[in-house]
Amino acid sequence: MNLTDYNQIRDLLAHHGFRFSKSMGQNFLTAAWIPEKIAESAGLDDQTAVLEIGPGIGCLTVELSRRAGKVLSVELDRSLMPVLAETLAGCENTEILFADVLKTDLEKIVQEDFASYRPVVCANLPYNVTSPVLTKLVTSRLFETVTVMIQREVARRICAGPGEKDYSAFGILLQWYTKPEILFDVPPSCFLPQPKVTSSVIRLCRRAEPPAQVRDEKLFFDLVRAAFNQRRKTLVNALSSAFPRIEKGMLEEAVVSCGFDSRIRGEALSIADFARLSDQIGKY
Ligand code: SAM
Repeated sequence: MNLTDYNQIRDLLAHHGFRFSKSMGQNFLTAAWIPEKIAESAGLDDQTAVLEIGPGIGCLTVELSRRAGKVLSVELDRSLMPVLAETLAGCENTEILFADVLKTDLEKIVQEDFASYRPVVCANLPYNVTSPVLTKLVTSRLFETVTVMIQREVARRICAGPGEKDYSAFGILLQWYTKPEILFDVPPSCFLPQPKVTSSVIRLCRRAEPPAQVRDEKLFFDLVRAAFNQRRKTLVNALSSAFPRIEKGMLEEAVVSCGFDSRIRGEALSIADFARLSDQIGKY
C-alpha cells in the first residue's frame, strides 16, 4: 500500500471511520519523496533507535523502520490504532505507544527501550505543540539529533542570529542546546488536509557544550526572555521592568561595562554577549 497516495489515504481512513482533528495538528503527507527525504536526513542505521512523534497513518514510520535498528512512535490519537495496526503490520522493529508526548517519560524510554542504541528523534511534528515538544526534546539532552518538520516561520526563528528579524528567545534556547540547520521546505500542497503555511525540515544536533560559559544559567535565560519580551524597548528599559530589584542605573552600568551602547536593543546581542551581560548582572 502507498501511504502517501491521496486516494489510498482517503479509502483507508474512510474504511476505519477516521476523522481529522485540527486540534491534534493532523496534516498527513501526500508525496512519497518527503518521508523518504526526512528519514534519509536523520542519518539512521541499525545502531540507531528513533523516537517518532505523531505517526499519523505511518508513512514516515515505515521509512524509519526500514533504516533504523528500532522505532518507537508516540501517537496521541487512539482512533489511529486500527489504522496503524494495518499499515505497520510488516514493521517488526517498530512499536507504537498511544500517549501524549508531552506527558511521556522520555528518559525512561531512552534508558530502557533504547539501551545500547544511538537515540535520535525524527518526526513530522503536530504544529500546535511544536514549541513545547521541541523544548522538551532539546532540554532533556537525551537525543543526538532531532530531525523534524515544523512550520517554516518557526524554523526561521530557531535558526536566526543577532540583528535578524526572526531572532528570538526561543531560538537562543534551542541554540544553547543544539546546532540547528534548515534542510528543505515543503509546500502546503503536499499535505491532507492542506495547512495554510509552508513547512521546513530542520535538524538539531546536540552540542557537547553550550556555545558560551555562564555562571548562572537561569539568570542567563531570564535575561534573554526579558530582552525579547519587550524587543522594541532599549535593553536597559526592558531589563529594568523585568528586574525591578536592580536599580536602572546599575543595569545601564552593566550594559556599558560589557562594551555596549547604553541605548542598544537586546536583539543586537549574540549568545556570547548575553552570557557576558548575565555574568555582569549576576554580580549585583
Ligand atoms: N507522521 C504523519 C505524516 O507525516 O503524515 C502525521 C503527522 S501529523 C502533522 C501529526 C501527528 O501527531 C498526528 O498523527 C497527531 O495525531 C499526532 N499528535 C498530535 N499531538 C500529539 C501529542 N501531544 N503527542 C503525540 N502525538 C501527537
